[in-house]
Amino acid sequence: MNSDSQYPSVVLASRNEKKIGEIRQLLAPYGIPLLAVSEFAGVEDVIEDGETFQANAEKKAIETAKATGHWAIGEDSGLRVDALAGAPGIYSARYSGPDATNEKNNAKLIEELVGVPPEKRGAEYVCHIAVSDSNGVVRLNVEATCRGRITEDPRGSNGFGYDPYFLIREYRKTFGELDPIVKQQLSHRARAFGRLIPRLLRELSSR
Ligand code: IMP
Repeated sequence: MNSDSQYPSVVLASRNEKKIGEIRQLLAPYGIPLLAVSEFAGVEDVIEDGETFQANAEKKAIETAKATGHWAIGEDSGLRVDALAGAPGIYSARYSGPDATNEKNNAKLIEELVGVPPEKRGAEYVCHIAVSDSNGVVRLNVEATCRGRITEDPRGSNGFGYDPYFLIREYRKTFGELDPIVKQQLSHRARAFGRLIPRLLRELSSR
C-alpha cells in the first residue's frame, strides 16, 4: 500500500525504458503508484516463451507479482506485417536473432519487404496487457491494435523500435516523425491502456 494514494503500488514488468516512459505517462493522470521492476533487487528477467502476446503478458505479470509481492502489469507488444503473414509478431524484439538491436531488426524487416509495393505494406502494432494481483492471479486482460504501413526508408527519430518505418496514413507521417503526444493518443499501447484503466481502477479499489 502506498500511503499517499488510495491505490496499492503496481509494478510494471518491463525493462524497456522507452516503453516504461510511455506507460508511465498513460497512467500518470490516475494516481496509481507505478514502480519499475528495476527498483527491486534480485528479480530475474521473465523468459518470453509463450506462443501468443497474451501468454507472454500473463507470464510477465504473474512472475513479477510473485517475485515482488505487488500487483503487476505485464505488457507484450509487437509488429504484425500483412505481407509477412504476421511476422515478426511475438518475435518483434528479437527478430534479427539473439543479439538483436532496433537497427538490426529494422534492417531485417526492410530486407524482407524488398519489392513489396506500398499498397501491400500494411501492418499493425499489437499491445496485450495482463494484470496480476499480488498473489499471482491474473485479474485483467486487454488487447488493442494500431494500423499503419511500413515505409521503405526511415523517417524521424521519435519513439523506438520500428517507429521510424511505421506510417500512420491519416497523418502521412511515421511514429518516428509524429509528436510523441500524437503517438500517445493513437498507439496500440494508448488504446490498450485506455480500455484497461477504468477496469484497473475498479479492481484496485475493491481489492
Ligand atoms: P516486448 O518488450 O517483448 O513486448 O517487445 C516489444 C517489441 O515490439 C519491441 O522491442 C519493438 O521491437 C516492438 N514494438 C512494440 N511496441 C512498439 C512501439 O510502440 N514502437 C516500436 N516498436 C514497438
